[in-house]
Amino acid sequence: MTQTALPSQARVVIIGGGVIGCSIAYHLTKLGWRDVVLLERDQLTSGTTWHAAGLLTTLRDTETQTRLAKYTQDLYRRLEAETGQATGLIGCGSIQLAMTPDKAEEMRRGYHMAASFGVEAYEITPREVKALWPLAAVDDLTAAFHFPNDARVNPTDVTQALAKGARAGGARIFEHTPVTGILQDQGRVTGVRTAEGDLKAEFVVNCAGMWARTVGAMAGVDVPLHAAEHYYLISEPIEGVHPLLPILRDPGNSAYIREEAGKIMVGLFEKAAAPWGHEGIPEGFSFGDIPPDWDRMTPYIETAMRRVPCLMDHGIKLLFCGPESFTPDHNYLMGEAPALRNFFIAAGFNSLGILSGGGVGFVMAQWIVDGHPPMDVWSVNIRRMHAWQNNPRYLKDRTVEALGIGYQDHWPFRQWETARNVKKTILHDRLAAAGACFGESAGFERANWYAKPGQAARYEYAWGRQNWFGNNAEEHAAVRSAVGLFDQSSFSKFLVQGRDAVRVLNQLSTAEVDVAIGRCVYTQFLNPRGGIEADLTLTRLAVDRYLVLTAPFTHTHVESWIRNHIPADAVCVLTDVTDGYAMLNVQGPHARALLSSLSSDDLSNDAFPFATARWIRLGHQTALAIRLTYMGELGFELYVPTNFAIPVYDQIIAAGATFGLRHCGYHTLNSLRIEKAYRDWSHDIGPDDSPIEAGLSFTCAFDKAGGFIGHEALRRARDAGLPKRRLVQFLLEDPSALVYHNEPIYRDGARVGVVTSGMYGHTLGAAIAMGYVGQADGVTSEFATQGSFEIELADRRVKAKPSLKPLYDPMGLRLKV
Ligand SMILES: Cc1cc2nc3c(=O)[nH]c(=O)nc-3n(C[C@H](O)[C@H](O)[C@H](O)COP(=O)(O)OP(=O)(O)OC[C@H]3O[C@@H](n4cnc5c(N)ncnc54)[C@H](O)[C@@H]3O)c2cc1C
Repeated sequence: MTQTALPSQARVVIIGGGVIGCSIAYHLTKLGWRDVVLLERDQLTSGTTWHAAGLLTTLRDTETQTRLAKYTQDLYRRLEAETGQATGLIGCGSIQLAMTPDKAEEMRRGYHMAASFGVEAYEITPREVKALWPLAAVDDLTAAFHFPNDARVNPTDVTQALAKGARAGGARIFEHTPVTGILQDQGRVTGVRTAEGDLKAEFVVNCAGMWARTVGAMAGVDVPLHAAEHYYLISEPIEGVHPLLPILRDPGNSAYIREEAGKIMVGLFEKAAAPWGHEGIPEGFSFGDIPPDWDRMTPYIETAMRRVPCLMDHGIKLLFCGPESFTPDHNYLMGEAPALRNFFIAAGFNSLGILSGGGVGFVMAQWIVDGHPPMDVWSVNIRRMHAWQNNPRYLKDRTVEALGIGYQDHWPFRQWETARNVKKTILHDRLAAAGACFGESAGFERANWYAKPGQAARYEYAWGRQNWFGNNAEEHAAVRSAVGLFDQSSFSKFLVQGRDAVRVLNQLSTAEVDVAIGRCVYTQFLNPRGGIEADLTLTRLAVDRYLVLTAPFTHTHVESWIRNHIPADAVCVLTDVTDGYAMLNVQGPHARALLSSLSSDDLSNDAFPFATARWIRLGHQTALAIRLTYMGELGFELYVPTNFAIPVYDQIIAAGATFGLRHCGYHTLNSLRIEKAYRDWSHDIGPDDSPIEAGLSFTCAFDKAGGFIGHEALRRARDAGLPKRRLVQFLLEDPSALVYHNEPIYRDGARVGVVTSGMYGHTLGAAIAMGYVGQADGVTSEFATQGSFEIELADRRVKAKPSLKPLYDPMGLRLKV
């Protein structure tokens, strides 16, 4: 039933009546918000939702995606009973197929991760695959994994069920009502414009699927996504094909296979996709499809058919092509727009919108109602994106790769191949000449490791040691014993200035920032729940001026966090100066001697102590030197005005030979920092982790006058006694084992946590992991460090030595010399 009279205001307006918009409306009403209006341009499901294949497979690439998929599956199972609207759910299960040892390793690691979040799965033999799917060819399988609870649904029916549930909770849904404009006032959304008039709203949610970029543009908000052609075929009827055949996910052949009314459906995730709608989605595109490109798709179809060879003997009834939107990193875009309060986005589902739709609705509704998501969703938070990524040409080029990436191998350290070289630091060509193998972060090309003469600067991916392991070892050793040079110009740099800068930053920071000019402060920004929103250093440059430094992938988040917390009456301005300064990081015991050979300034420990900053002369140039380290050695971060950077670099390189200087890449930065147990935001610490749990209480000035955001929550947690979880560093006993992320941690045979980050520690001679260890009664130091710890790597458990103090230089003696 569609309502006719559009109201003039509502608490929440949702734009878009696909599975996502309807799920958010449903979940908002479940939280008791009845004044919800959903506006759909045409009819419900008329965008992408109507033609989806409806797979509900729970093993995803990331923890967040897996949790959202698990919630969705549980919700869809009960939706029909609750709403009376059929969902077409068939509990057929799914099977994931691995054709290579690498894919088998990836799936084994993945299914152990999924098990940690309650997903049931079993490794099965090819013979068992054959028993479950008699028509499938299994001779080429290395491994297979059965997920008995996976299912499929009818996406249109699920969406209608969510809409029905939302209406029952008070939501009003208006079809044939396109939104034509977004209303805003002083940085806050105030409503939407339609042909039938304006509709005021406290919150507006952009769930417009592949149109979300256009709707975002109405508000001046970047929603970087691009549509692509997406295919499945349906065979003629085949004997023996029945609805309970499990979904076969066959990444080696870029395909999934399932039953469809006695026929076989084969969905394709080809390696090189065709972007669609670059010039704009055609006017009136509803329940639309795209004429299939048979020539381009035939080789993929032939490959996919190998899994069920009888397909070759039956005709293809339909080759369907519909558009779906993809994002530059194959993760969803969710959350509040960085620069427009109360304007939320949920779009860019990379062909996973049905299987994650329930979870997305659950998270988004809580985010809107509570002001924060109910779990750490950084990997899908729209604030990880950057304004430049909304460039249509960039999006188009990246989409070629983004569609199929989910079915490719996800080796550790895998880099995107398309739409590269967006940002190059001023030293790029010199680093390339020195052998740099580049990876991408926030669009920057960054040297990850340096090839030796005669060695190709190219990754050879594997789950074991990759081709750059030895390069990393040598760079690592150089920093520990001599000196290394890192180009970290990609670092985000903000000036926060004005009479009230100290007041603003003190409210945000756990640490006291009202320090002497020239002092550096390591601090976190917390949310009101005491979780860590940012991990950064501030340097006081003047009474009313601070330099704020953070990792590039957090740029948008940190920038908007600060801006959004500057009170209206404060005299405080934030300026992004990232591109104005290169950053050359000189680290290692010979760092002082090397720089002193180029400078007339006194760089001694007395004149230039740890955690201070000063302008120093280097040859004919000047740089802001900050004496800090993320590697655990004596070191100087040199913030060099960009136009000085090449001469400064050249001098350091020319002088460096005498001091054993080596170029070092980001993999070495990571292997050094993990030995020292320095935390990595978004891995080891994030919005759901408190400084107490993370072992960072030392940054918290509990007695600071006026406190800081999160102070109350933190104080309560401190007074409540032992934390329920603590971050622990582990050294693996088997030096050949490698650990990456999300591997389960066991203590005396019981699962107590998962790994948050891992890397090989060349000085300590084995892989190192970080991870939270939890216990309901609270975690004592004894619990965290005594007992028998093991880390599960695919199908084996490796003993690990735990430590609450850094295993490398626990007293920090090497930094302060
Ligand atoms: C061939 C194919 C197979 C797929 N198979 C699966 C699968 O098996 N499992 C899975 O999980 N996912 C699958 N997907 C992906 C899935 O269909 C999408 O991720 C999902 O439907 C996205 O839902 P949505 O609500 O974000 O977008 P949509 O369904 O496109 O909804 C957006 C809505 O916004 C409306 N709108 C746009 N502009 C405006 C405006 N200005 N004002 C008002 N309304 C507006 C549109 O009309 C549209 O109805 C598949 C996709 C394709 C193409």
